[in-house]
Amino acid sequence: MPCCVRRPLRLFPHARALRNTKIRHLSTPRAPGEPIDPLHYAELERINRSRRQGVLIWAGGATAAAAYLFFWPDEPKAAPTKTNAPLSPSYFTPATISASETTGPNSKLIQLTFPPHLLKSSADDSFEFRPIWSIYVKDDAIQVERAYTPLKGIDQDGRMEFWIKRYPDGEVGRWLHSKNVGDPIEIRGPVPTWSWKENEWDEVVMISGGTGITPFYQLLHHVFTKEPSESSPKTRFTLLHSSRAPDQLPPSTMLETLKNYSRSQKDRFSLRLFVDSRQSESGSSHIDLFLTEGRIGKAEIQHALDPKTSSGWGKLFGSKPSEPEKTEKKVMFLVCGPDQMISAVAGPMGRNLRQGDVGGILGEMGYKPEQVWKF
Ligand SMILES: Cc1cc2nc3c(=O)[nH]c(=O)nc-3n(C[C@H](O)[C@H](O)[C@H](O)COP(=O)(O)OP(=O)(O)OC[C@H]3O[C@@H](n4cnc5c(N)ncnc54)[C@H](O)[C@@H]3O)c2cc1C
Repeated sequence: MPCCVRRPLRLFPHARALRNTKIRHLSTPRAPGEPIDPLHYAELERINRSRRQGVLIWAGGATAAAAYLFFWPDEPKAAPTKTNAPLSPSYFTPATISASETTGPNSKLIQLTFPPHLLKSSADDSFEFRPIWSIYVKDDAIQVERAYTPLKGIDQDGRMEFWIKRYPDGEVGRWLHSKNVGDPIEIRGPVPTWSWKENEWDEVVMISGGTGITPFYQLLHHVFTKEPSESSPKTRFTLLHSSRAPDQLPPSTMLETLKNYSRSQKDRFSLRLFVDSRQSESGSSHIDLFLTEGRIGKAEIQHALDPKTSSGWGKLFGSKPSEPEKTEKKVMFLVCGPDQMISAVAGPMGRNLRQGDVGGILGEMGYKPEQVWKF
């Protein structure tokens, strides 16, 4: 159902207020020059939880109000739908599911294809498609939209690939997982999440949990396959990624690509994977040198910045890892993942989708707000 069609409201007032807040915020396109839209997983989850609590609180004794509200038309707040129109952040337009593959107990790789004749000829290279960007997918059954990050951007045939997690009670993730190849899906975008600037930083350290790896995959794919190798030779990248268990790690196609970057670009990219427990690992005798059991902590972050002096040998013989060279190197930390992980690494997000102070491990290490971006 198109968003702009007026439809009877079936929610209670409190729930409606929260829902409209969300839709209004998420669907507001960013004007050129405006600060980047600071959307992030944690805030979306907070809004959703709050909405659900609201429904429960209001449910008792609201029958009469519900009968009234059922016939009270909802104000159309969300972006409209246009067919046969180029991709845009300000309206939805149809794409098609062109592939869908189960990659773990609750994750899928889903490919969407947008009609190539509606792409601008150089869409892939144009400014708005520079990393890191996402698109919004609309679940048209319940008029809710969620952001997803194309792993490799968009190709000239209009294909975008996503790694998408399904939460047990999540709305759009479950809905997307239930879709089949050939089904239409309405999308809008690109919506910028964070702007990569060539040669701006000496070190970019990316710390992710679960599907929080997707924005970083997009950035690395761009840097190592699209930028000429001489364009930002100054920047060194580290990706510290954690998943709960081996079977919840990103799919092997993603991991192999990242491992290949780290082998072929030894001086520019290093990858470390963490799992809370290796128990669900298959019985293969293959040793994954990239994989460690445990959480990403201060030592791992220090090691990312200064691999020579805080090596395993140093720790073994009791020498202290050296403090990062904050003054000499221009460092940027990007953190994306579940709420608790963001808080532990960089402190909680602020109110109203703001970044908040730098806390957690990075706060302890003395990093400043301009050196940390929480997704
Ligand atoms: C810029 C950006 C890019 C993103 N890119 C990706 C990506 O590439 N891949 C990806 O998988 N995700 C991505 N996300 C996250 C995605 O947008 C959604 O937030 C996520 O898929 C969850 O949406 P949902 O509708 O499935 O779940 P929701 O309905 O929003 O539920 C979210 C959370 O609430 C919990 N919940 C649901 N029901 C209840 C209940 N009754 N009580 C308590 N808790 C409940 C769920 O278990 C889940 O933990 C991105 C987010 C942003 C902001």
